[in-house]
Amino acid sequence: MVLQPQPKESELVEVVVAKLYEREKMCCDSCGTEITDPSKVFAMSKDGIQSNYVNPGGHVYETVTVMTAQNFELIGNPSKQFSWFPGYAWTIMQCKTCNNHLGWRFTSTMLRPSCFYGLAKSGFKVVIHKRTTPECEFPEYYESGTTYAVEYIPI
Ligand SMILES: [Zn+2]
Repeated sequence: MVLQPQPKESELVEVVVAKLYEREKMCCDSCGTEITDPSKVFAMSKDGIQSNYVNPGGHVYETVTVMTAQNFELIGNPSKQFSWFPGYAWTIMQCKTCNNHLGWRFTSTMLRPSCFYGLAKSGFKVVIHKRTTPECEFPEYYESGTTYAVEYIPI
């Protein structure tokens, strides 16, 4: 994650206004079905929102963790074998529309959050939808009193 220098207040206002007219969605890389949006991204590991993980087969996955997702199907049963997040069981997620591999759902009966999703960077793309009217509510990441880098999700 690359943090940008904090913008001046006037620049921040421009960015916020611009953001009100667009909405980023994280969509299936092969068919474009909406899976989630960047406001659902959160940091689950000390590395932040994005980490690299290696599966037992040696494949490296760049993974982004999100709180919620939709339009997916789970494949197989939850497994704790080789879990990247200790205490969590993973289940393979694929796109409901085209069966593209999206990532994994992680679940735990003991830990909080009890459920989150690790999306493989190879499985999704960020699509910006331009709006003709601004969104009524501010996105979560502009909550007052909280400072974030403007380009907080360099996907
Ligand atoms: Zn798809």
